[in-house]
Amino acid sequence: MNEQLKLLIGLQEIDSVILTIAEGIELLPNKLEKGRTILKEAGAAFEKIKVKHEEANSRKKKKESDLEEIQGKINKLKSKGSEIKTNREYEAHLKEVKTFEDNKYQIEEEILSAMETLDSLSKDIKKEEAKFKKTEENFRHEEKLLEEEKNRLHSEMEVFKIKRKDIAKRVNEEIYEKYMNLIKSSGGLAVVQTQSEICLGCHTNIPPQLYNDIRSTQDIFNCYHCNRFLFYLTTDETAPGGKGK
Ligand SMILES: [Zn+2]
Repeated sequence: MNEQLKLLIGLQEIDSVILTIAEGIELLPNKLEKGRTILKEAGAAFEKIKVKHEEANSRKKKKESDLEEIQGKINKLKSKGSEIKTNREYEAHLKEVKTFEDNKYQIEEEILSAMETLDSLSKDIKKEEAKFKKTEENFRHEEKLLEEEKNRLHSEMEVFKIKRKDIAKRVNEEIYEKYMNLIKSSGGLAVVQTQSEICLGCHTNIPPQLYNDIRSTQDIFNCYHCNRFLFYLTTDETAPGGKGK
């Protein structure tokens, strides 16, 4: 095989890997963003239930002060009982006391109900807190893993960049320029395999004569359609990693 073509195949192999690594690095912040959204939602749910609890608690406190107030009125009213002289006045007095007592009973019921609500909300707070803490823990863990993944990808990238430099400097300048233009214009794929008279880059047919030349000479040829460098692999060689289109 033409020495330059061999180098191009090697270069493409490395560039495909570098591209995949770069894509992997680019995806990392997105992955973390999802976790951050979930954590935010869990935090908001926890805050919401705490606010609900606070509101219920202040409603209960208000009822308790209402109760105190009404108890004061009842006491005051009852102490006046001894000053009553007529039956009619006494009846009116009893009626008044009863109205306050009924009111007081009503408030006591409301306080009991508020206490039940608070009890249930306290349980909800504990649940949401546990959920939030677990979510936060998961997020921190994920954050750490992604950071490690990022470092790993970056150092892997460095290794491939060094390998790339070594090959690139051996490629003929003109060919290298053509290669780089193709990399930019053809989705990172400049060197492709031919198989069954088809260019595996653009999937169009290669004229039989050209296909034969590629196979027999193993020289540098380009696809008529997509312009990519073409190569033919004999069975004892392995195809370099790359993606279609
Ligand atoms: Zn093509």
